[in-house]
Amino acid sequence: MSKQDYYETLGVDKNASEDEIKSAFRKLAKKYHPDNKSTGDEKKFKEVGEAYAILSDPQKKKQYDQFGHAAFDAGAGGNPYGNAGGFSGFSTEDIDLESIFRDFFGGNPFGGSSSRSRSSRGEDTLVRINLDFEEAIAGCKKSLNLTLNETCKKCNGRGGFDETTCKTCGGSGRVITEQRSLFGVYQTQSVCRDCMGTGKVFKETCSDCHGTGLVKENKEIIVTVPAGVDSGYQLRISGKGAAGKNGGPNGDIYLEFRVKEHELFVRDASDIYLEVPLTITEAILGCKKIVPTIYNNIEVDVAPGTQNGTKVKIKGKGVVIPNTSKKGDMYLIYHVVIPNKLSSKEKQLVKELEELDLESASEFKKFKKYVK
Ligand SMILES: [Zn+2]
Ligand SMILES: [Zn+2]
Repeated sequence: MSKQDYYETLGVDKNASEDEIKSAFRKLAKKYHPDNKSTGDEKKFKEVGEAYAILSDPQKKKQYDQFGHAAFDAGAGGNPYGNAGGFSGFSTEDIDLESIFRDFFGGNPFGGSSSRSRSSRGEDTLVRINLDFEEAIAGCKKSLNLTLNETCKKCNGRGGFDETTCKTCGGSGRVITEQRSLFGVYQTQSVCRDCMGTGKVFKETCSDCHGTGLVKENKEIIVTVPAGVDSGYQLRISGKGAAGKNGGPNGDIYLEFRVKEHELFVRDASDIYLEVPLTITEAILGCKKIVPTIYNNIEVDVAPGTQNGTKVKIKGKGVVIPNTSKKGDMYLIYHVVIPNKLSSKEKQLVKELEELDLESASEFKKFKKYVK
């Protein structure tokens, strides 16, 4: 998109004097000022400011007259004239519009620094909760003792007593200041500092909350921890946090859990891993075995000839996925325990085993092939 000619933007001709440029800018800036309800136009206001920034500076005006907008296009497209043209790398992006308008109007037309909004939302609070393994699996109720901002009861959150209309601003919350600049006297509106824009002041400030309307209070909150939470899981308790200012809504409480490890069960998200020790005879002959889960005991069939490290899936015996009815699975890992202390009778029996051919399995044949 081609830019509008700066002279056209200000509605002046190329031979316009410095004074004519200033006066044209002043007129248009007033017209397009965002505070001007009927003719305000922020986009045009900025365009006018940019045109003025260039044309009011003799050096930049000269460059513009010679090269047009190309003189200031330091953007991605590059300046066809480069620095060889003698430009100091000035770009229209560098124009400090704010400072130009401040000179004219004494305020920042772009920034909403006004604190007219009287109420604000309370702060969010993060609470870390330690849970036992079982508490996390089954869910639980926890009582929290928190110190939170509460609305001051003495003043009902108002901050003081005997409210009267602010004399400084006459109750409007805004003050109009007159500023003198080179181009005349300008009026600018800003938030009244005496009443912070509320239009009201107190004869007496509340001694409990020192005018803030908020006091720290100990609060007990009972939270229901859903089944299945894990370390790092966060829960938001909406609207139960610190009170807001001037009747603003409460903040939220975020709970973050840390779950202790279990002596036996190992948890991986919603799955549970359990190492099941087997004696050598249980592994060789197979057996029925009572195994604990995180819910109840179950009986499993261990197949004859079960190898060390065999993994068996037990469906649906994992952890509940929080706030759903879905559950993870459980995995049994068989661990054949080789006894290292034998009585003389046991030793005798194992020796008898030795006489049998236990090396008929293919693993032994392959291995022996390479024993020279
Ligand atoms: Zn005031
Ligand atoms: Zn108070």
